[in-house]
Amino acid sequence: MIFAFYRIVLIISKYLVPRGFVGLTVFPFMFLKSETLKRNNVLINHEKIHLRQQLELLIVPFFIIYGIEFLVRLIQYKSRKVAYRNMSFEREAYQNEGDLNFLQKRAFWNFIYFFKK
Ligand SMILES: [Zn+2]
Repeated sequence: MIFAFYRIVLIISKYLVPRGFVGLTVFPFMFLKSETLKRNNVLINHEKIHLRQQLELLIVPFFIIYGIEFLVRLIQYKSRKVAYRNMSFEREAYQNEGDLNFLQKRAFWNFIYFFKK
C-alpha cells in the first residue's frame, strides 16, 4: 500500500495542542500534549486515521473541507463540542480508533461513508 511509507514527525508540546485536546495532526506532523501520550495506542491510532484522511485529500483540501463541515455541523448542532464529534472525519476516527488494525484494511476515501446527516 502506497501510504505505508510516509514518516510521521512526532512533536510533544503542550502549547501547540489546543485546550481541550490531547493530540493534533497536520500531515506529516503529529502533536501530542505530553510524552506519556506516545504510549496511548488508541490516541495514536486516531491521529493516524487523520493522517491517512489528510493524505487522501492531498492535505490542504482536507482542512478546507474540515473547516466547512465544522461550520455546517455548528449550525446543525449549535454546540462546538457536538459539532466536532459529528464531523465525518471525526466519526470515522472515533468509531475505528479502538481497532489497531483498522488502517491496514481501510478502503481508500473511507471517510466518504461518514458524510451523513
Ligand atoms: Zn480527531
